[in-house]
Amino acid sequence: MLDRIPDDIRYDETHLHIRWKDGRDCSYELLPLRKECPCASCRGGHGVTVKRTTDAITTIRMVSWKKVGRYALQFTWSDNHDLGIYTYDWLRERCEGQ
Ligand SMILES: [Zn+2]
Repeated sequence: MLDRIPDDIRYDETHLHIRWKDGRDCSYELLPLRKECPCASCRGGHGVTVKRTTDAITTIRMVSWKKVGRYALQFTWSDNHDLGIYTYDWLRERCEGQ
């Protein structure tokens, strides 16, 4: 369970850094993270033929983040977008795959 609880969350110009309670450090490049925003708006609604609205984004910075309940983070991006909820499960699994 400790591997699904963030202990420390920081960000800089290019990356989000999460240290999990089990001691693992993970870094996430901001641009892909923004492009993979899981909200319905960014996913372009239903169907695979719809072009994702995030495809055109070439630069992004993080403005702030907040915890959502006990299971996720919500980011505010420099393009004023803040609808995406990134679950701890998703973030941790993405890190394991690096
Ligand atoms: Zn989104």
